[in-house]
Amino acid sequence: MTFNSLGLSAPILKAVKEQGYDTPTPIQAKAIPVILQKKDILAGAQTGTGKTAGFTLPLLELLSRKKSSKQKHKVRALILTPTRELALQVAENVTLYAKHTPFKSTVIFGGVKINPQIAQLRKGVEIVIATPGRLLDHISQKTIDLREIEFLVLDEADRMLDMGFVNDIKKIVNIIPQERQTLLFSATYSDAIKKLSNQFLKSPTLIEV
Ligand code: AMP
Repeated sequence: MTFNSLGLSAPILKAVKEQGYDTPTPIQAKAIPVILQKKDILAGAQTGTGKTAGFTLPLLELLSRKKSSKQKHKVRALILTPTRELALQVAENVTLYAKHTPFKSTVIFGGVKINPQIAQLRKGVEIVIATPGRLLDHISQKTIDLREIEFLVLDEADRMLDMGFVNDIKKIVNIIPQERQTLLFSATYSDAIKKLSNQFLKSPTLIEV
């Protein structure tokens, strides 16, 4: 299995090559083709398995296949993470993988001033990586527009539930378009995750590694 056979185009493969990745990890080999078929996925994956590239690479591919009909730089993909550390780490990866694409991203988390985040959002980004609480602040202050969201990623969903974010997640999901692709990643598969999956995913493909 090589990255070339997964259905990713040249600008994305170039970034992968520059990262020095030769072979897709198991989660990447399984998840990328399914995501490219525009299916929702429920994936069991721990940190360190390469899950970030597993959702970011196909997401960039789908973003570039379907040009936005609207003006440039609308937020089209939202990646929710439980902690600022993970948000930063994912954002760093997204920047690397998107290097040869036209897509911009920014990261949103609490505990820091909101104004620089507002300035970043105003510049225009397609991808937002966020923790739930601060994202809700932006939503209530109307400093983010999520009406054009096409992709939602719930990263480390089990940790988000453990940290008590379930109501925040529900509020966020309720205001983004229903017609979207949703990717849920969780290290564990509990009843609470099943319930979340039933609420937010449409006939998801189960991916286990
Ligand atoms: P993650 O599980 O997404 O946090 O990724 C864990 C680490 O694996 C990160 O440092 C990535 O840069 C690295 N990585 C991701 N995919 C690959 C790959 N296909 N080959 C080698 N390293 C990878």
